[in-house]
Amino acid sequence: MYEMCAGVEKPGGALVWHVMAKHTTTTLCGQTLSQHVDGASAQRAGHCSTCMALFGKLMTAPPAVGSPAATDH
Ligand SMILES: [Zn+2]
Repeated sequence: MYEMCAGVEKPGGALVWHVMAKHTTTTLCGQTLSQHVDGASAQRAGHCSTCMALFGKLMTAPPAVGSPAATDH
């Protein structure tokens, strides 16, 4: 499961929407989002291109070997 999370693209960079797996503290592109982002700024943010690319690969890749979902056949 993944969720969108607003944060800076890189430290000191522009605000973007990252993709983050649930129950983790690191985005797909490797950022740790520590600072709170206000809603008004987040609404104007774009999307993190790195997260989008990685997320697209995850959606098309087969389940990882060893994950519970991969053991049902
Ligand atoms: Zn990202």
